[in-house]
Amino acid sequence: GRNAFAFFRAEMDHASQDRRALEQELQFALARGQLSLEYQPQVDMVSGRVHGFEALLRWSLPERGAVRPDVFIPVAEASGAIVPIGAWVLEEACREASVWHEPMRISVNVSTAQFQHGDFAGLVSRTLSATGLDPSRLEIEVTESMLSRDPVRMLDTLTCLRAMGVSVAMDDFGTGYSSLATLRAFPFDRLKIDRSFVQDLEVNPEAAAIVHGVLGLAKALSLPVVAEGVETEQQSEFLRTAGCAEAQGYLFGKPRPISCYDYLTHPTASS
Ligand code: C2E
Ligand code: CA
Ligand code: CA
Ligand code: CA
Repeated sequence: GRNAFAFFRAEMDHASQDRRALEQELQFALARGQLSLEYQPQVDMVSGRVHGFEALLRWSLPERGAVRPDVFIPVAEASGAIVPIGAWVLEEACREASVWHEPMRISVNVSTAQFQHGDFAGLVSRTLSATGLDPSRLEIEVTESMLSRDPVRMLDTLTCLRAMGVSVAMDDFGTGYSSLATLRAFPFDRLKIDRSFVQDLEVNPEAAAIVHGVLGLAKALSLPVVAEGVETEQQSEFLRTAGCAEAQGYLFGKPRPISCYDYLTHPTASS
């Protein structure tokens, strides 16, 4: 009825006001030093060793506190702010990783707008030169939705990145609409199984069947797989038995600031 509609309107106005406020604040986030990165380990399922880290962006406002990435990243994508912010993420992650005492892989998420804006492969190349990071240590995580937008340009960019020695991972695999066609059309070095499938492994036989299917497909294509969002020993055991090479999740470590990883930043603390 009318009241419900009025209520709905008020909610919507709130939401769009909130969005506008966030959008304005985001313009200054970089200059005000409110952005930071956290790093989450990706571990080998057999040896338990850490092979790499995913860099995850964090935004903290003085009064409001932390804003969740799934709230502010879509806002930054819509406003275009993700282009300078994404360039900062790339540089910060590469600079950080270049001084680690173990040559681990560093994975960086990118958005469609970054790929569409100017010469992304050129930006990566300049960032690698500026930071001195070995290209083979950098991995760019892309999603399926990005690739469907402008496939010719995407393929060109991915090909350039790989020619430079940078690897490319297909992120959130299974959540898009054209997984199989995408795998055939684009050159990937790794697949990341989305957290939503891992989460449901124990309770949903279909999720388990999908994970088995993805691992079989990846094996046939010689693509290593990282499972995302592993929280329990049972999930870990299932994935290991099914042949998944690496895992990332709270069971192995939450995303944390770089200062929490002594063995990367202090050589003497290394075991
Ligand atoms: P994503 O790329 O799928 O990243 C994995 C998300 O799962 C991260 O959420 C991570 O903290 C979370 N996660 C990892 N293990 C577990 C677990 O065991 N349990 C649970 N419940 N969650 C787990 P986060 O950090 O909130 O980031 C959300 C999304 O924001 C990312 O999803 C990614 O799409 C986007 N994002 C984060 N940083 C960046 C960035 O620098 N650039 C761009 N373009 N997007 C980013
Ligand atoms: Ca990711
Ligand atoms: Ca995901
Ligand atoms: Ca993602």
